[in-house]
Amino acid sequence: MDPSTRDNAFRESLLRDSRKVTDYPPACPKCGGNIGNIFRCRTCFFPDVMCLRCMKSRHEGNPLHRIELARRYAPEWKLVDYDILTLRTRLGGHTTEAPCPNGDSVQKFKVIALDGVHHFWIVFCGCKGMSRVAQLEQVRLYAVGENPVEASTFEMARYWEDNVLVVPPWRGGEGGEQRSVE
Ligand SMILES: [Zn+2]
Ligand SMILES: [Zn+2]
Ligand SMILES: [Zn+2]
Repeated sequence: MDPSTRDNAFRESLLRDSRKVTDYPPACPKCGGNIGNIFRCRTCFFPDVMCLRCMKSRHEGNPLHRIELARRYAPEWKLVDYDILTLRTRLGGHTTEAPCPNGDSVQKFKVIALDGVHHFWIVFCGCKGMSRVAQLEQVRLYAVGENPVEASTFEMARYWEDNVLVVPPWRGGEGGEQRSVE
């Protein structure tokens, strides 16, 4: 394929993935329920359109996905504010249907990942007396302190340790402080 044909094909693909919603569904294509705003995920392999309830149940265990919303009267895809999604991710193997029987606690949380910052709610488990830091470690999040409100993904921590010559925020640095180089 010559380069200009390939460029045009790529541009057409991007156009098809554009922000405007041209076929607003009359009901949720997943559950068939009434639909107000529609949602799709940029991170999931299949960018299926669905209602808020379906999107939340699909992402309870995937809080680091980037989800978009389009309103019926302004049908254009926009990144969702986490306050709209109110996603709660339960640690300790619990789910919304089977929550922690031993006193869970909800914490608004910030996670620094390679693709930027994510906000969602984490529900810590009260079983087995496991510390919050240890519970976060089980899902590959690195945090410090007794009651952490933010963490970094292991990938982010590794990237920072390998490539950035400043003290990382999760080691008490402000991000601008030069790390000593032996
Ligand atoms: Zn639905
Ligand atoms: Zn997703
Ligand atoms: Zn529990």
